[in-house]
Amino acid sequence: MKIGEVLGLGGTPFDAGCYKILNRQPLDFDDDIFSVRFSKGLPWKKRNIGRYLKKAFEKSRDTTVLLHANAVEIILDEEDVSLVSAIRIRSYDGRERLITANDYILAAGAIEISRLLLASRNRMPQGVGNRYDNVGRWFMDHVCVRAGYIVPSDRKKLLQGIRPVYVSNVLHTPRFELTKTQSGCCTAFAQIVFEAHPDSAFSKLRALFHDIQREGGKAVSRRPFWSILSDMPDVMAGFVAYTVLGLRPIPARSTPVVLLVCEQPPRRESRIFLADAIDAIGLPKIRVHWLVGGEEKTTLLALARLFEQQLIRSKSGAIQWFGGFNPAGAAFPAEWAGWYHHIGGARMSVSPTDGVVDSDCRVHGVSNLYIVGSAVFPTSSCSFPTFTSMALALRLVAKLDRRRASA
Ligand SMILES: Cc1cc2nc3c(=O)[nH]c(=O)nc-3n(C[C@H](O)[C@H](O)[C@H](O)COP(=O)(O)OP(=O)(O)OC[C@H]3O[C@@H](n4cnc5c(N)ncnc54)[C@H](O)[C@@H]3O)c2cc1C
Repeated sequence: MKIGEVLGLGGTPFDAGCYKILNRQPLDFDDDIFSVRFSKGLPWKKRNIGRYLKKAFEKSRDTTVLLHANAVEIILDEEDVSLVSAIRIRSYDGRERLITANDYILAAGAIEISRLLLASRNRMPQGVGNRYDNVGRWFMDHVCVRAGYIVPSDRKKLLQGIRPVYVSNVLHTPRFELTKTQSGCCTAFAQIVFEAHPDSAFSKLRALFHDIQREGGKAVSRRPFWSILSDMPDVMAGFVAYTVLGLRPIPARSTPVVLLVCEQPPRRESRIFLADAIDAIGLPKIRVHWLVGGEEKTTLLALARLFEQQLIRSKSGAIQWFGGFNPAGAAFPAEWAGWYHHIGGARMSVSPTDGVVDSDCRVHGVSNLYIVGSAVFPTSSCSFPTFTSMALALRLVAKLDRRRASA
């Protein structure tokens, strides 16, 4: 709940109870096979967390933000290697400083955390926290396949069950998660995205918004505005759907595409490691050896079969699978991808022999170094990682606060 507040996601439930609040009818799926979980998309204004939290940081009396300060080395104490004595920071123009503190928390994203630990070899040649060669290992992502598209048999019914809806500018999108994992399967879900035709005004507007988000107003001049105006009736219909009904606009020329997503089993050999090349800041570049195996393929094929079966059962549609993907014939496509959910590299474990941090997110063998983020997840689940990362971060901060108060 606290995390939902920080992000401004509102108090709506994440499960099927949300349909009632949205005043919508769920698809008639068997609850023993699929559970609905709503994902929530941040309001537009809050998408850039740096900008969104900027004012709070500026006002804060106990936070100092250093911009362009890249952490490049974790420096262990000369006499006691179980203590970090400083973090070296460096800017791209070559300026350097040492930052000292009582406790250090690395929150640099899963891949960068592994890189920093591995590249900090001042006192330990194998890197910080890497006595048992665990840093960078058990790397995971969510495996995603763009599997097919739905041919609706009852479009109205289908849209009731799958259409994303805005509540107070927060986008609510239903996902259909396997309730019980079948034998040999990982956790997994199906989600439908309405893919606008690349020539439609919607596609062009979307690209424009993304550019504006990244670069600000100067992006406007680059996108051909007249081509957006030519599709105006469709854009107006979408605008009315959004402003009056709170529905996510669905372009007239769009296809309901089925995405299948699953977790990965942790594999020690799936790993992030240092490359020989050095980057512009002076750190070794990294390489990722990302493994995807039979379990994920079995899972996604089973998910596909069950999702199609339930769509047909609920009389809402059938699926036309894209070439190469054939759940009945167990054919898996060559095209699958990760989902930018980098997980692992500094996994949590009871024993230092099996991981990098303990249950408090403290690096094994280094008493004042902590890690927050999905790097510490020992398993990935199919659910998205940010909430769990933030929950772990809040728990750690509360713990450090309590310790400081009692000291
Ligand atoms: C396109 C996309 C869509 C996503 N969608 C979702 C979603 O819907 N739901 C979800 O749960 N997750 C989603 N994710 C994943 C989500 O973004 C991550 O789980 C989350 O951002 C991780 O937070 P973090 O703070 O650990 O790392 P990050 O958000 O990566 O933040 C790390 C910060 O550390 C800084 N940094 C990195 N290296 C250094 C260094 N050496 N020195 C100093 N600073 C450094 C970076 O500049 C950055 O500001 C998505 C990711 C992408 C890319």
